[in-house]
Amino acid sequence: MEYQKILDDINAELKRESFGGKVANYIPELAQVDPDKFGIHLSTLDNGDYFIGCNKERFSIQSISKVFALTMAYPMLGEKLWKRVGVEPSGNPFNSLVQLEYESGIPRNPLINAGALVVSDVLVSNLKNPKHDFLRFVQKLAGNSTISYNEKVAESEKDTGYRNVALASLMKSFGNIENLVEEVLDFYFYMCSIEMSCKELSQTFLLYANHGKHFVSKERILNASQSKRLSAILLTCGFYDQAGEFTFKVGLPGKSGVGGGIAAVFPEHYSVAVWSPKLNKAGNSVLGMEVLERLTTKTGLSIF
Ligand code: GLU
Repeated sequence: MEYQKILDDINAELKRESFGGKVANYIPELAQVDPDKFGIHLSTLDNGDYFIGCNKERFSIQSISKVFALTMAYPMLGEKLWKRVGVEPSGNPFNSLVQLEYESGIPRNPLINAGALVVSDVLVSNLKNPKHDFLRFVQKLAGNSTISYNEKVAESEKDTGYRNVALASLMKSFGNIENLVEEVLDFYFYMCSIEMSCKELSQTFLLYANHGKHFVSKERILNASQSKRLSAILLTCGFYDQAGEFTFKVGLPGKSGVGGGIAAVFPEHYSVAVWSPKLNKAGNSVLGMEVLERLTTKTGLSIF
């Protein structure tokens, strides 16, 4: 497959069209990002690397970090995890409180904010030094010890993240948060502030294209069943309440973040990451979705 040519063609097409979207501004620090940044990186399991634009520039991965948190927490609790968080698409905005109230504090899935807060609680309970240990885990997955939190972004969200405070407090009232709400939120905000480039994200996501086995070290991070389940959650819940449309148009499991990143995998073949900060109303990168729709259309390859 001529991935580089396909990416070049997509890039040329996109330059001829104009797209809308707005940079996330509810986290003040994210509003500072240049809206026109654009990068793509595609990594194949046979060692190919193909890219366009700012593929090496780091950005705030935000909710994409929820995938790494789940990857760490799932083997710790095993199937017991699903007693505390569901596996259904929410059909609601990622930070909605309503559903959580009438579903007794059990979030619909681990990729909406409430679900990621439960996963954060699991990590806070099971790690000696949660923020440090989680970062080391992500660095190990990425094979890169320079990956780090952006404290300014984390603190900026801590100052303004009232909905997340409300979600965590509501779940605590239902008994679904074990630790202090402040401790869980502190971990969650730092987790969301991790910065990675498209290249680093795409290489890290090869884990999910490789059924849970680390692509370089060959270490098994998730067993085959866990990897299947995690990819299923990416497919059905990875794109806020636009997961149906993303699957309809793109046909790959993946995850987006309000920093404008999207990472997706074509199992047994490749992983790909795109960054463009302008978001649609659902919170997904407008250009990111365009790129991936065109990629699976032009390659004729998707999971379907
Ligand atoms: N830190 C963001 C929040 O909690 C993550 C949102 C996202 O990327 O979906 O609101």
